[in-house]
Amino acid sequence: MNKFTTSIPTKARTIIQKALQNKRYELLEPEAKELIGDFGITTTRHTVASSIKEAIQAATSIGYPVVLKIVSPDISHKTDAGGVKVGIKDDEGVEVAYEEIMKNVKKKMPDARIDGILVEEMAIPSTEVIVGGLRDPQFGPAVMFGLGGIFVEIYKDVSFRIAPLEECEALDMIQEIKGSKVLKGFRNTEPLDITALAQTILKVSNIMVSLEEIKEIDLNPVLVYPKGVKAVDARILLSRL
Ligand code: ADP
Ligand code: MG
Repeated sequence: MNKFTTSIPTKARTIIQKALQNKRYELLEPEAKELIGDFGITTTRHTVASSIKEAIQAATSIGYPVVLKIVSPDISHKTDAGGVKVGIKDDEGVEVAYEEIMKNVKKKMPDARIDGILVEEMAIPSTEVIVGGLRDPQFGPAVMFGLGGIFVEIYKDVSFRIAPLEECEALDMIQEIKGSKVLKGFRNTEPLDITALAQTILKVSNIMVSLEEIKEIDLNPVLVYPKGVKAVDARILLSRL
């Protein structure tokens, strides 16, 4: 991909326009995943269901195991609301998880509007990283990288670059965090796909440069494999212009 790529996928524009028309400044997870998918970032296959029956149908067509998640314009942190269930193995599991999510959300966030339940493929567990995009009032679009979980939250072990950036800069961002050894493989763990991860950082850079309406992107987590990467969560915030 060229550093100055300017072609903007039309689907991405439509998703943003629809949200802004409805005065929504945070995309729903399925919208955010469609947008990043349009820019070539691999995400989990998914469907939004509005009943247990639909959820079971979706799970059957996606293939078990699946993950169920709440879809609500009022909930950004789904786990905090009891809105995520992973590793669901069969139809009965879907029914139990669906009811539990609804019960948790009604209890923890009684006023939240609910658009449905996201049914998605369960990605094979692997090392989790965060790839982010932000718009700095002074420097403009920028990208962020860090290892998932406590590495970012407690150790603040992250790297930043101003967008757009070159592939070598994306690779530098990955190498310069203190925890980068985790990605390179040690003793009995395989080295992970740093090239694919660098491409994901470049794609987030491209999104930030191409779509000015986007204020912030949070791909948390992106799972990194020996071959390829997969974004299993995506949050996109829009500016209130
Ligand atoms: P939250 O809004 O709480 O950040 P996430 O969508 O990130 O919700 O889900 C919480 C956690 O569940 C993720 O950090 C990841 O470890 C796991 N997870 C979510 N979706 C999937 C999936 N499709 N496959 C595998 N693990 C997943
Ligand atoms: Mg998340």
